[in-house]
Amino acid sequence: MADQPLRSVDDLIKAELIGENERAELSALEKRYAIALTPSVARLIDRDDPDDPIAAQYLPRVDELKEHPDERADPIGDQPHSPVEGIVHRYPDRVLLKLVHVCPVYCRFCFRREMVGPQGDGNLTKQQLATAIDYIASQQRVWEVILTGGDPLILSPRRLQDVAERLSKIEHVKILRIHTRVPAVDPARISDELIEALIQSEKLVYLALHANHPRELTSEVRAACTRLKNAGVVLISQSVLLKGVNDDADTLAELMRAFVETGINPYYLHHPDMAPGTSHFRLTIAEGQALMRQLRARVSGLCIPQYILDLPGGHGKVALGENAWKEVAPERYSILDRHGMEHLYP
Ligand SMILES: *Cc1c(COP(=O)(O)O)cnc(C)c1O
Ligand code: SF4
Repeated sequence: MADQPLRSVDDLIKAELIGENERAELSALEKRYAIALTPSVARLIDRDDPDDPIAAQYLPRVDELKEHPDERADPIGDQPHSPVEGIVHRYPDRVLLKLVHVCPVYCRFCFRREMVGPQGDGNLTKQQLATAIDYIASQQRVWEVILTGGDPLILSPRRLQDVAERLSKIEHVKILRIHTRVPAVDPARISDELIEALIQSEKLVYLALHANHPRELTSEVRAACTRLKNAGVVLISQSVLLKGVNDDADTLAELMRAFVETGINPYYLHHPDMAPGTSHFRLTIAEGQALMRQLRARVSGLCIPQYILDLPGGHGKVALGENAWKEVAPERYSILDRHGMEHLYP
């Protein structure tokens, strides 16, 4: 079963991951939001469990057609901070470089769901890439370049090497960070050739692995992470706190321990963003905070990520520690951003 990627409602019905009775409603949905599962992900799904946490992350559901008035197409306000195509420059010392807008899988809760996918913004052209790299070279304060997308590791080793080499020539850039799901969803892609391409850059390379459930860290996934680590890539984690996937302290503890056992330092646990059609995944901040307290009570400090909210409207990330927020009305919060400014959320 499933040794080809699954990319449509039809593929999912043929693979018996969804029922024929869902075809009509989900066909409307797939015109709006891309679908993809790698064979590794499809194999991980427990078909006997209607609440399977892997299925919940990737299989389309009619719930996605429901939109909440607080949701927005650009939930964290990237657009106004994009000086040239492919760059988001919100913080003085680091930029996002978005090379591609496609991914090997499409997560149903993705905060860029309106931008990613085959119908999305497409890849950067040669000329746009040159302009983006010139922009980074012109900004002396940029210390770190974060490759994101889409998923940058969907690119060929040759393309990645080209980008890494060009960034390598920029003196003030010291750190190259890659945000990706590839080691978790397609571990075979982490070949020697791909690793070689990444470490060409002579900059220290960080890889932020996106995974949300401990079952995603299979032995193949752990082996891929070990190959990266042995090559000198520093591994950190990023997860999204999702109702029905990891919203209980035992699952979070197991996930964070699985990261640490694999040599991945827990970095961020994101509160879900206000992406359209994702309200069935969202918890309240108070619920997230309670889970963080339970997590702190039961695991090593090595296993504690920062609980992060990316404020809508481009105001940036906030660590949701005890003092950064207060509930001002039911499920309405006042949150201090990094400048000490107050924002109503959502
Ligand atoms: C999230 C983000 C970063 C990275 O933030 P860190 O807190 O350093 O992980 C950088 N730039 C933009 C625009 C972002 O949204
Ligand atoms: S891999 Fe990342 S960018 Fe791609 S769909 Fe998932 S969350 Fe979105």
